[in-house]
Amino acid sequence: MPVDPDLREKKMQFIFALRQGGLRDKTILDALEATPRDLFLDGIFRARAWEDIPLPISCGQTISQPSVVGHMTLALEVTPRCKVLEVGTGSGYQAAVLSLLARRVYSVERHRPLARQARRVMEALDRHNVTILTGDGTSGLPEQAPFDRIIVTAAAEDPPAVLLEQLKPGGIMILPVGQSDTVQHLIKVIKTPAGLDYTELGDVRFVPLLEGVAEDVID
Ligand code: SAH
Repeated sequence: MPVDPDLREKKMQFIFALRQGGLRDKTILDALEATPRDLFLDGIFRARAWEDIPLPISCGQTISQPSVVGHMTLALEVTPRCKVLEVGTGSGYQAAVLSLLARRVYSVERHRPLARQARRVMEALDRHNVTILTGDGTSGLPEQAPFDRIIVTAAAEDPPAVLLEQLKPGGIMILPVGQSDTVQHLIKVIKTPAGLDYTELGDVRFVPLLEGVAEDVID
């Protein structure tokens, strides 16, 4: 396939902007560069895929900002031995980035059309270590628990106790906490033998973590 010089330029600027923004980890920058964000977007938004901004996807949801994906992935400290749970598949972009770093990724989405579309993209990209399921991620994924890492990409008012239970000893969970219409805080939770260790990582803005599977009209 011929290489689009525009695309190459856009990608270079994309990585440059992420580095300028403080994301320096080579493994994570490589994973972001190797994951074509345009495939996770539709229509007019595709042209803006290589900008460091959140963009709309179907079902009224959003694909996260790449720098936020990068910082959350870095904080998650994923290794090639990790089994990871993501709550809130959305476009599947974050899951696809994780698939290059982890052994196995399970991602749960409450909108069936989003889960289906993300599954298609994952197949097109040959990211076979990702399993996308439609369901209510607030219940976690008991059949695959416990997890080495859990990442929640929708904001809860408090870290869900069920998810903390599904984290292995020594495991790490990253999640935005706070009301959806105000500023939220990104939290890192480490399950230590002495208990749960919480660190605040900064302010973010995510759609709310809602209970139950969505009733989508167009399916
Ligand atoms: N990680 C995504 C962006 C997340 S948008 C990406 O890379 O594109 C947040 C997603 O969480 C939305 O798609 C929303 O439908 C989903 N969500 C909200 N509450 C949920 C729940 N209880 N279970 C599963 N998914 C949920």
